[in-house]
Amino acid sequence: MAKIVENKKGFMVIECTAVETMKFGGIGICDYCNEADTTGYYIAVLNCWYCRKCYTEWMERAIFYEEDAPFEKRNFEYYKELLGLKDNE
Ligand SMILES: [Zn+2]
Repeated sequence: MAKIVENKKGFMVIECTAVETMKFGGIGICDYCNEADTTGYYIAVLNCWYCRKCYTEWMERAIFYEEDAPFEKRNFEYYKELLGLKDNE
């Protein structure tokens, strides 16, 4: 089940399974390393779905830029809707 993921850097991230990526035309393949994973993370600021390994590594090096926030928010709202997520779930 897709769910919103809290993270220390405040990025908007949705955890979802490979099957759920099909709702947005994905096939459970990481946009960073091109490997398959059963669960991964949609990262709104990148508009990408990363496998667990790449997500963890990305989170370590990622820097939040204020100017990306409107883009991130728009992507996030769109994918949240697509994945059937509601606020505070
Ligand atoms: Zn990956």
